[in-house]
Amino acid sequence: MGGPRTFNIELQILSKIFTGGPERESEVIRDTGLIGSLRWWYEALIRALGGTACDPSESECEGIRHCDACELFGCRGWSRKFIFRSCEESDETLKIQITELRRVEDVELALLNRTLRIIENYGALGAKLAHRDYGIINIKENDLDDFRLEKSMLQSYLKKQGSHTDNPNLKRFIFIKKPDPRFVKGLKNDCSFLKGSKNKGNRYFYKKPPGNRLFAYAAEDEYPKLLECAGEKAKTGEEVLGGLI
Ligand SMILES: [Zn+2]
Repeated sequence: MGGPRTFNIELQILSKIFTGGPERESEVIRDTGLIGSLRWWYEALIRALGGTACDPSESECEGIRHCDACELFGCRGWSRKFIFRSCEESDETLKIQITELRRVEDVELALLNRTLRIIENYGALGAKLAHRDYGIINIKENDLDDFRLEKSMLQSYLKKQGSHTDNPNLKRFIFIKKPDPRFVKGLKNDCSFLKGSKNKGNRYFYKKPPGNRLFAYAAEDEYPKLLECAGEKAKTGEEVLGGLI
């Protein structure tokens, strides 16, 4: 039995990571945003893979009765399995350290690794996910890379109890690299459901260069329309997940 393991991840910041300001407390804001967005993508992945993930803002997960996302990220009465630290080495380099508080299973590390890769290649990281200036990263070093996600790992792991919601779900995302600004405008008009409502935020995310990209998601009944509007340039969530679903 070894002691708690630490996994280092080094990110190159291509745009900015939201911090809320230059003060010291901005580090706390940054880390809160990093964990929050990491969890948001992790939940979307878990749902696509057939697992359970609650909406943390209205979760009924508690103690041992919790969803697959809370299993790793924690909820009331069930603590997160790891300590998360980040440290800005320079304007361009952010180091992340994930240290075990309790044993993290290989499948969880593989899920986390896959989440980071999706963020790098198609998504964005940190708070203000919908802001076009924030969150584009490159992964320079990644200790989690030893943990690859395979379908066979998931069956016995997923589908814990507790509350779960169905959105966002990576199965119902579209991803477009370097979209034409006119196309983005057209998409927002044609798929007005992407603009969200009072209680729910935007469902489309447009990022300026560098890392110029668009990602969007829809509920089950709206997804065919989103696919139709997105056209052939779009990659679907299913394509991004390869043979996993
Ligand atoms: Zn939960």
